[in-house]
Amino acid sequence: MSKLSCPICKAEVVAFKNLYKCINNTYPPSGDSCKFVLFDDCLSKLGKNSFEEDELQILLNGGQVELNLINKTGKGFSCNGVLEDRGKYHSVKFVFEDSKQQVPSKSELDNDAIF
Ligand SMILES: [Zn+2]
Repeated sequence: MSKLSCPICKAEVVAFKNLYKCINNTYPPSGDSCKFVLFDDCLSKLGKNSFEEDELQILLNGGQVELNLINKTGKGFSCNGVLEDRGKYHSVKFVFEDSKQQVPSKSELDNDAIF
């Protein structure tokens, strides 16, 4: 796996069992620790259990990746995803290019269940 770099501090991001974390993200936090962490399974409720390496590279560089997901009613939908800073952790925010496309409701896109 090629190196992933932290979108906040540009340090190396390392893979753990189910998450990606900046090497400067230390616990307990100190003055210069970084808060970057992305859960590999943050979209698992929408049918995507993990990220591919190329998707991570794009997301961590601020780009958009194409996602093919499944909502709670079992209906598939496509959208783009961008990295989103949620404060304590990072997640993926959905971007819909086609405004005519039916946008799934917020509850269908609820991917905060891990917290
Ligand atoms: Zn960092």
